[in-house]
Amino acid sequence: MSFDRIAIIGAGLIGSSIAHAARDTGAAKQIVLFDADATVRARAKEIGFDVADSVAQAAANADLVVLAVPVGAMGDAAASIKDHLKAGVIVTDVGSVKRAVADAVAAHIPPHAVFVPGHPLAGTERSGPDAGFATLFQNRWMILTPLGGSFEEKSAVDTLTRFWQTLGANVEVMDIDRHDVVLAVTSHLPHLIAFNIVAMAEHLEAVTESEVVKYSASGFRDFTRIAASDPTMWRDVFLNNREAVLEMLGQFSEELSGLQKAIRWGDGDYLWQLFDRARRMRREVIDAGQDTASPNFGRDKK
Ligand code: NAP
Repeated sequence: MSFDRIAIIGAGLIGSSIAHAARDTGAAKQIVLFDADATVRARAKEIGFDVADSVAQAAANADLVVLAVPVGAMGDAAASIKDHLKAGVIVTDVGSVKRAVADAVAAHIPPHAVFVPGHPLAGTERSGPDAGFATLFQNRWMILTPLGGSFEEKSAVDTLTRFWQTLGANVEVMDIDRHDVVLAVTSHLPHLIAFNIVAMAEHLEAVTESEVVKYSASGFRDFTRIAASDPTMWRDVFLNNREAVLEMLGQFSEELSGLQKAIRWGDGDYLWQLFDRARRMRREVIDAGQDTASPNFGRDKK
């Protein structure tokens, strides 16, 4: 499948990866990017993308507009394109939170356009246009969370499904509120825990920060990769998926108390059973093709 012209608003990790992937796969004949940041626009041009000087220029005549800005900026980005959309255009987004983004964006979508929220479950801890690459979405899930059920929307979901499949993703349609609960468990809570553990190392009294860094390969290091993710992106995720994250955090705290009690009372059975369940979950992730089973998580040993 191929769009005649797509506009990508936000030329960071996700926006530039979509541009690379669409160019390499031929999923769009013309790909135009725009970013609010002039430095990012200049860099995206140097990389070789077609970059518009204004959002109006980017959105004009596009068949698909992808909003790839931080969750807290989605409303502003939608407001900036609304007067430049041609009839029949599909507008989508890639925000990591869906309900809050959908509310913020839908308010600006004119009746002659169709809006289908989306979220690719693919990313890295890096950001900016240099971080993007064409294979980011290969064999990763792309979740679409349509809002209504009109004929135009169903047809847009079909078109977007084919577009994302062309970029290499597996597409799933999900209820929008379900998305926010599922992602609170699989993405938002793990990031919060990683941010917390890594930041905690600064305040420890029993060991020095330099000892933590020196001996980090024993486990801490793997949290630091997740905790290196973009602070703006993650601030916006937690501010916009508050309820689901707080609910999961409550359950996490209860489980943690259980572990604390088991360690205090020397309940080895409890610990073993829980660790064994966790290990089996890792096996399921590998079997589902969502990670590599190779040693060192497949990292290069440079
Ligand atoms: P990023 O690398 O930081 O890029 C976002 C770009 O959007 C920045 O250059 C930013 O400029 C620009 N921007 C902000 N407001 C704008 C506006 N109103 N109009 C035009 N450009 C604007 O972020 P990213 O990692 O690609 O994330 C983009 C979206 O994808 C987020 O909603 C995030 O939740 C979602 N997502 C991210 C990942 C991931 O792993 N990173 C995975 C899946 C989904 P400034 O820096 O000057 O603000």
